[in-house]
Amino acid sequence: MQSDTSPFGLRGFLIDAPQFGTLRGRPNGAVLIDNGKISKIGDYDDLRRLHPNSIRWLDRRPAAIFPGLIDCHTHLPQYSVVARGESELLPWLRQHIFPVEREFTGPKARAEAPAFFQELVRNGTTTVMAYAAIYEDSCDAGFEAAKQSGIRAILGKMMMDLGSYGQLQPKKVLSISLLESERLCRKWHRSEEGRLEYAFSPRFAVTCSEKMMRSAAELAARFEAYLQTHLAENREELEKVHHLYMSARDYTHVYEKCGMLTPHTVVGHCIHLNPREIAAIAAAQSSVAHCPSSNLFLGSGLMKLDQLLKAGINVGLGSDVAGGPELNMWQVMRAAIEVQKARSAYEPNLRPLRPGEAFYLATLGGARALGKSNIIGSLDSGKEADLIVVDLAALLPYPNEDALAELTPEDIVALCIYRGGPQANLETYVRGKCIYQAPSPAGAL
Ligand SMILES: [Zn+2]
Repeated sequence: MQSDTSPFGLRGFLIDAPQFGTLRGRPNGAVLIDNGKISKIGDYDDLRRLHPNSIRWLDRRPAAIFPGLIDCHTHLPQYSVVARGESELLPWLRQHIFPVEREFTGPKARAEAPAFFQELVRNGTTTVMAYAAIYEDSCDAGFEAAKQSGIRAILGKMMMDLGSYGQLQPKKVLSISLLESERLCRKWHRSEEGRLEYAFSPRFAVTCSEKMMRSAAELAARFEAYLQTHLAENREELEKVHHLYMSARDYTHVYEKCGMLTPHTVVGHCIHLNPREIAAIAAAQSSVAHCPSSNLFLGSGLMKLDQLLKAGINVGLGSDVAGGPELNMWQVMRAAIEVQKARSAYEPNLRPLRPGEAFYLATLGGARALGKSNIIGSLDSGKEADLIVVDLAALLPYPNEDALAELTPEDIVALCIYRGGPQANLETYVRGKCIYQAPSPAGAL
């Protein structure tokens, strides 16, 4: 594995999405990596001429080199129960999720957390934003495992003081949850030279008092940390919030009143929003994590993606394991496309989401949603070298030289979305360091 900081070059088919709707490709491309950053991008022959023998060249053909995939919303303690349950959100939480989160502490958390981050990097995810369980040690275990794995991670201890799975009295839960969250933030926020960051993480309005949400928002502001929560995922949840907060104009207003909508806030789901709510999120410059595979699995609904994008909201994609059945972000992109196709069957004027657009959401779009587009998300010199190398031969039904030579960037992105995953992921790099390498070249010619 590439682990030192000396400059090196990677050769392959470079593909990224500099904006929504645009794919950029270089079939015989190369990226030079120096001290964790992309120092140069260009055609291999040109760069090779400039640096004939001064650096080490890794020829990865027939492979595509993409910016690393960004998962803006998932749950560390839930991975062991993926694909479990057939109910909607609230009964599913009670039956399948709270029991597994209740157990996610001590040796179990310390054993599962490293495997979780290993799975993420094996799937080509280089940046993840995730929730731990309610226990301080579950979040500590997550940060420790993320630190060891080399991934870029934003994590937070789950906060809930209403109907929690914990054993403490609600009043005690509030003060302890705030104390522990602050302690975790002080310990981990911006550690590893900023590779690890903290997100204050009130679960959602159904399981959090106003005091908890307001305090979480204040802490996030004080520490310039992230804030993450769930919003308007499911109809029954909406009714529950309406009964709990009768004076609020709508669900989003509950968060607005608590100061939770900020430019550092990432709200998950946002399926059932009215136009006022969409405008409020846009005005607050909060971001949205769209979790389409979860929305399909739990029957939550079909995201009005066009409306959020039109309002100027930064939207990233999230696997939302275990609401979503897997960590593979290519499958999440596929679900995003299928959700919009399903909508367009009933809304004739709606243009379906194209593969290159879904890919944008999982790369530069995700980086924008996390306020990191200046450092990651695309293949540009000066950015940090978070990259994945994907074996194209492993994706083609009949991998031969002719079929490979004909591929366009659009073809390759579509192949990855419909057939990609860990079986084709050869290498994952964060800050120029190879943090995952496939055991043997998959499907090499
Ligand atoms: Zn979630």
